[in-house]
Amino acid sequence: MITYTIINWPDCSTLAGRRRPVLQPIVLVPMGGVAATFLADLGSGLQRCLGVEVRLGLPLEVPQAAYWPERGQYLAQPLLSALKGCPAEAAHKVLGIADVDLYAPGLNFVFGMAAPPQGMAVISLARLRPEWYGRAPDSKLLLNRALKEAVHELGHLYGLGHCPNPKCVMHFSNSLTDTDVKGAAFCPRCHSSVRPPGLDTGANGDV
Ligand SMILES: [Zn+2]
Ligand SMILES: [Zn+2]
Repeated sequence: MITYTIINWPDCSTLAGRRRPVLQPIVLVPMGGVAATFLADLGSGLQRCLGVEVRLGLPLEVPQAAYWPERGQYLAQPLLSALKGCPAEAAHKVLGIADVDLYAPGLNFVFGMAAPPQGMAVISLARLRPEWYGRAPDSKLLLNRALKEAVHELGHLYGLGHCPNPKCVMHFSNSLTDTDVKGAAFCPRCHSSVRPPGLDTGANGDV
């Protein structure tokens, strides 16, 4: 039994009154030690924003082969590969939550990465923490940012690409400022483009 903290999510109201598409359930998988209370709160936010069932998966380790010592960062792809070992039903979308600095080839860092054909995505909390930038810790801000990045990567798994609307959760975050500017909800255009179950065969693996 999971007890969710009641949180006021200010970003989830933009689609109030619109009919929500039916989306596949989500399995949240902590990778390398993420607090259970944080996962429960994030699950609560995802349930509220997406209207989906959220389950907590068994924890996984961050694969050490992903670590690149010269950069002091972890390549995101091996974390996605590690999620393949997660025992989830085929219909579920799997979202790994890590807390290490991730990067992808050609990019200085990534907040997260999705593999739509596999129905798997990963986000990291590392660069969402205010203390990464020398500021005081702020658990609510961290949770809000994580919710946006989680919805963004799940949006890719639900068939969406990037959106030019800077307020839409599917807007590409080039920096944390972009994440803070955008909301946690799909804009009306993206909302109407979410593919129903069975048609989610997106081919790209973008971030
Ligand atoms: Zn949009
Ligand atoms: Zn993206």
